[in-house]
Amino acid sequence: MSDEPQIPVSPDDETEIPESHPRYESLLTRHRIEHGVDLGITSRQGLIAQGRGEAYDYLLGERTIESADDAARAATAQFLLADHPVVSVNGNVAALVPGEVVELADVTGAEIEVNLFNRTKERMERIAAHLREHGAEDVKGLAGDGEIPGLDHARATVDADGIGAADAVLVPLEDGDRAEALAAMGKAEIVIDLNPLSRSAQAASVPIVDNIIRAVPNVARHARELRDADESELRAIVDSFDADAALAAAEETIRRGE
Ligand code: ATP
Ligand code: MG
Repeated sequence: MSDEPQIPVSPDDETEIPESHPRYESLLTRHRIEHGVDLGITSRQGLIAQGRGEAYDYLLGERTIESADDAARAATAQFLLADHPVVSVNGNVAALVPGEVVELADVTGAEIEVNLFNRTKERMERIAAHLREHGAEDVKGLAGDGEIPGLDHARATVDADGIGAADAVLVPLEDGDRAEALAAMGKAEIVIDLNPLSRSAQAASVPIVDNIIRAVPNVARHARELRDADESELRAIVDSFDADAALAAAEETIRRGE
């Protein structure tokens, strides 16, 4: 018998996962995603996306690298400068960081919009309800009366007065196509994605190469620090950020393992 704490075979309750386990965070994350599928808020495709993300996280050392923290700060400044910032939420984001998204939106004055690759009315409503259970007051996305140009109809749908009218959008885990189409609309686009080679990360004005589990609370932390900063300070933070350098730094960390 090993001394290793037992991994719950079927963790119905995340408190069953022993915090002392060396893969505690990863197990907790998997549990939340699995639970999201059971609740009907995460798609089965979302399980695969999570797996891809985990592989990159492993290679990054499962930590927030310095360039990702700089990106989170630049993203925060961009959001605080915006007239109409919106956080886009999909099934993985809703399963992993619902409360953290609500907090980020509160502290930056952003709106929350549910936006799905596989859009069904039922899943949209479940995610909105899940976010409200975690404290969100107003959740956009259900109107679906706007469109991102350049995409086929099903994937283009947004709220006209939400993402449609936003000047800055935070899209954690967006697919490459839509990230490119949003960037083409001239919006400041902040992407959180563990893969620096992903087209989503490459299309972003501010790519944060980090796990959403760490990155979303990190942006909220920066926002608490920066919320009283004046416009020129925020502008300087945004202007000094170099997206290509941030992506290169993340790729270098993955390749060299340091
Ligand atoms: P491309 O962007 O190159 O077009 P894609 O976005 O269509 O590819 P997917 O596998 O659908 O590819 O996207 C999942 C993306 O989300 C991956 O890049 C993965 O690294 C990222 N990802 C998954 N889970 C997380 C997470 N918890 N935190 C941050 N990023 C994640
Ligand atoms: Mg991608």
